[in-house]
Amino acid sequence: MKKIIFATNNKNKTAEVIALLKDQYEVLNLDDIGCTTDIPETGNSFAENAALKTAYVFENYRLDCFADDSGLEVEALNNEPGIYSARYSGKRGDLDNMNLVLQKMAGQKNRKARFKTVVSLIRDGENYLFEGVIEGTIRAAASGVKGFGYDPIFQPDGYDITFAEMDMAKKNEISHRAIAMKKLISFLKEH
Ligand code: IMP
Repeated sequence: MKKIIFATNNKNKTAEVIALLKDQYEVLNLDDIGCTTDIPETGNSFAENAALKTAYVFENYRLDCFADDSGLEVEALNNEPGIYSARYSGKRGDLDNMNLVLQKMAGQKNRKARFKTVVSLIRDGENYLFEGVIEGTIRAAASGVKGFGYDPIFQPDGYDITFAEMDMAKKNEISHRAIAMKKLISFLKEH
């Protein structure tokens, strides 16, 4: 079976993709191939950061590979935290990052925000990008305990609950990551 590398160390993300691709590909993550390098994410966009990860893996291992990069864009904050989502407050703490967004959004009328994921794929040496976006609003206060990151302050359009109040299965069906991954999976199945 053809091998494909998912350039991540995240076991949950890997398990999800293995389940979706098990008939076509043997999916391996960075741990599986013994890649311990912290691949620098020095790009200026999700796409650039995702592409840096696949370029690194392809140059070093010459195997088909894909990588994802995600974050929250808040319209009134000039689309911040964006690529800085994981360390917006200067620390790698979900709570500090989320509270900084809440603080900056205090009194702000335009609450529009979106989660975005870009997946970069290198297959047979060719580069492809797939994007997933979910639009929503930033609540005035955090609500809910499920999920991670900015989930407690993000309410997806069409729902009256935050991502942190939503069942994980439902979030995984409608999320930015799910949309981008579905595009990747259909591409891999069709080509
Ligand atoms: P990653 O690129 O998937 O590792 O995401 C980078 C950062 O974006 C995370 O550390 C979170 O702060 C934020 N983020 C990405 N996806 C989500 C999500 O589904 N819910 C909440 N926060 C997220």
